[in-house]
Amino acid sequence: MTENILVVKNLHKTYPGEIPLHVLKGVSFSIKEGEFVAIMGRSGSGKSTLLHQLSLLDNPDRGEIIVGNKELTALGEKEKTKYRLDSFGYVFQEYALLPEFTAIEAVSLPLILQHYPMKESRERARKMLELVQLGDRADHFPSEMSGGEQQRVAIARALINNPKILFADEPCANLDSETSRVILDLFRKLNKELNQTIIMVTHEPEEEEYVDRVIHMKDGILQ
Ligand code: ADP
Ligand code: MG
Repeated sequence: MTENILVVKNLHKTYPGEIPLHVLKGVSFSIKEGEFVAIMGRSGSGKSTLLHQLSLLDNPDRGEIIVGNKELTALGEKEKTKYRLDSFGYVFQEYALLPEFTAIEAVSLPLILQHYPMKESRERARKMLELVQLGDRADHFPSEMSGGEQQRVAIARALINNPKILFADEPCANLDSETSRVILDLFRKLNKELNQTIIMVTHEPEEEEYVDRVIHMKDGILQ
């Protein structure tokens, strides 16, 4: 039987303000190791907010986030940062590539920042670029690549630390439908071949066919 890799219990998040916005109203669910799950819901329904809490980019007001046997909500800020770098990968709608770094520099940077030797970092980065079929683009800058290629560089970068969970927030929102299919096929391949657990936020119903399971977000809870 496959184990749960992520268990979320009764997660709440309110954005403060003159009129506080209660976005997550007791979200509970679990994800199994090796699952490819889509979180769907209308714009403004709180999908990104949920992903930010799960992936430790923000702190929920209450609730539990358990990955493996570790309760992440109990960690201090320093431990959370370390956990994020060691264990999570992120892909965003905007590829978030720095213009002055080539593809191989961008992909190796997370390892270099974690003090891996330069040579090993570049070798692993090159393998990752080959995995996303960009082996021939290693020395290209973002301005020399299409949107789909830039997103594949971002995916290679997200995978370089062998993340327990890959989080993707509307990764195809800036891409045409053909390029979106390339990216979704790549996620599917990574999921199948590497048994990579993936949690992807989307509001495109046609992306459902690529994933194992869809979780719907509405009115601050999952339905
Ligand atoms: P989705 O990703 O489903 O489109 P979001 O999680 O981005 O939705 O946003 C949910 C709600 O929270 C929206 O009403 C949005 O305006 C609001 N919101 C998002 N981020 C913040 C923030 N940092 N501060 C205040 N309100 C926010
Ligand atoms: Mg969003």
